Amino acid sequence: MKSILSPHDKFCITRLIELGLFRKITTEKLNIGNGIIIVPCSDGHQFKDVYNHIRGVCEKVVDIDCIHPVALNGGAILMSGRLPEERQAHGKTMFENIIEASCIKKCDDVFIYTHFPCAVAMASGIGVVDQGLYLMMAKKRLKAAAPHLRVKCFFHIDMYDEVEGDSHKRRTYFVPKELWENEAFLLPVLHELKSEF
Ligand SMILES: [Zn+2]
Repeated sequence: MKSILSPHDKFCITRLIELGLFRKITTEKLNIGNGIIIVPCSDGHQFKDVYNHIRGVCEKVVDIDCIHPVALNGGAILMSGRLPEERQAHGKTMFENIIEASCIKKCDDVFIYTHFPCAVAMASGIGVVDQGLYLMMAKKRLKAAAPHLRVKCFFHIDMYDEVEGDSHKRRTYFVPKELWENEAFLLPVLHELKSEF
């Protein structure tokens, strides 16, 4: 696996954390039932950390008995409606699988993810900031398709750097909708971080 973060990637991630666009998860605010559906990228180098992390978080809140993954290459941004045409079918499959899982497992809490670096996002030419925006779009479209779902957004980051020889530093951040959808707050940030939007 190669995952070298550019200085610009690192700058963007640092700023997103400073600005509160990537936020530490506060378990006190996590209102969930006994089961959740997680929608991460199926990246096998990252899944263990994604799963173990969210399991630990949920266990602080409830007696969690089911963490049901709906994972495809690219994760929840497949549902954004903004990826290249050939990815759209995967997004549709993801919608269908989440809604079906919600019925089978009697579970309305859905945690959707994007992660960095993600091969699918990179192949589609989008960077860390735009991944956050795509994640918001995915949430909006999922809520429109299934209004009963309670959808929360998360961003997984692996700061591994082959050049500097750092070890893996994996973190999962909460992505707060109220800031990402606040245009007055977000536009100067997009300008500063040179988003393609
Ligand atoms: Zn990925």
